[in-house]
Amino acid sequence: MKNCSGEFFNIKEKDSSFRGKGLLENGRILGIMADARKAITTYHDHLGDDSERKKCLDQIMVIIPHHCGDHSSCNDPGLCQYSSMKKENPDWTDEQIQHKVAETSLRHEGTYMDLSEEGCDRLMKVLMKRFNLESID
Ligand SMILES: [Zn+2]
Repeated sequence: MKNCSGEFFNIKEKDSSFRGKGLLENGRILGIMADARKAITTYHDHLGDDSERKKCLDQIMVIIPHHCGDHSSCNDPGLCQYSSMKKENPDWTDEQIQHKVAETSLRHEGTYMDLSEEGCDRLMKVLMKRFNLESID
């Protein structure tokens, strides 16, 4: 399946507000693509199943917010350390969870992309343009 990492690299190349530490770093781009691929692969095990297709698209939609530190829509603790930590420790504050995730996370050292809402939207559009109802089957 074709991915859209090239488009992310383009954005970064053309717009300096995406460049730099804590922003759209190369490792982050690969992480985003890996998450998208995971959602697609899971769906392809149930190819043609409407509810699995919807689940897949929902999952792709939360990838960017998730990488920006907004886990309010992450609903699969298997894919989101923050969510699984919260599930295990329902009485912890956001700060406590954040801290613990940073401590135990290897990838990205538990950090988030520090992008504006506008920046997040732009990345989300790239992802949704590439992965949508017409393209994921
Ligand atoms: Zn998350």
